Amino acid sequence: MSGETISFVLPVYNEEAVLPLLIARMKDLIAKLDAEVEVIFVDDGSTDSSGVFLSQLAKSDPAFRYVALSRNFGQQAAMTAGLEAARGDAVILMDADLQDPPHVALDLVAKWREGYEVVYARRIKRDGETIVKKVTSSLFYRLIGHVSSIEIPRDVGDFRLVDRAALDAFLAMPEQNRFVRGMLAWVGFRQTAVPYHREARAAGKTQYNYRKLAKLAGSALVSFSDVPLRVALWVGAAVSVVAMMFGLYVIALGLFWRENMVEGWASTMVVVSFLSGVNLLMTGVVGVYVGRIYAEAKKRPLFIVARKVGFDRAEATQDR
Ligand code: UDP
Ligand code: MG
Repeated sequence: MSGETISFVLPVYNEEAVLPLLIARMKDLIAKLDAEVEVIFVDDGSTDSSGVFLSQLAKSDPAFRYVALSRNFGQQAAMTAGLEAARGDAVILMDADLQDPPHVALDLVAKWREGYEVVYARRIKRDGETIVKKVTSSLFYRLIGHVSSIEIPRDVGDFRLVDRAALDAFLAMPEQNRFVRGMLAWVGFRQTAVPYHREARAAGKTQYNYRKLAKLAGSALVSFSDVPLRVALWVGAAVSVVAMMFGLYVIALGLFWRENMVEGWASTMVVVSFLSGVNLLMTGVVGVYVGRIYAEAKKRPLFIVARKVGFDRAEATQDR
């Protein structure tokens, strides 16, 4: 099927070492894809020659486009900027360091043509990453799988294809703290995966340190779960029950075995333990409400319509 446009979105931050190879691989890929292609590079405030290189390329080759951010906003913001600029019927998100091999895009597009709106690439093997990175990453996905009500697929990075319908839903989410791959899982639609072998970086070195990764993980947890808020509620309830029992015990002690007790100890203990229990409990209750306010403040759409049939005849011709 032709007449379709496929957009590629690649965030770029100081990747001058890989760009020539990347461009060559992208050109190969474009030749193999039976569709109109635009490749959007989002320059996330690079301080090396990436910007000059890419803007030159965008001037000379109509398949390539260049978006420059005003400073380094981070990969999540850069991807969002690219997704907003994309005009394709489907958009493929990809890292610029060739860890996501471009030829896998052919499989993604094939699945899209079968009718899936979100096709993510699942890494079955990861090269060139440290054990620590693999272990922390696996722990993180386990944790978020437990505490979040939506399923964020395992072993899946940002490398994926998103159909226009799912993309528009994503773009309608105005939240400030963006965890793009979580949000793209949240929008739903028919989702599927294709396996791939994640390669080592072609050149240069990772832009992420553990501080940046921890920040991303924290933002993901808070955006997709209010479990941290609820913890206070449960801890508070547990402490209150224990404090109540302890209070009864201390009162009994004071009544029946008064002679071996320090004056005032019983009353102090009862008051302190009871109050701290109540305190935590109320903090937890407040937490639940703050959680609600937080959910409201995010102003996410309440639902997303996947398809419409038979409403507007003019629109029907656009249906695939
Ligand atoms: N990146 C970005 N802004 C940043 C950091 C990274 O746009 O602040 C880009 C980077 O150029 C690459 C992608 O995001 O295309 C993934 O970054 P990296 O390869 O450093 O991460 P890793 O693969 O180690 O998780
Ligand atoms: Mg990388």
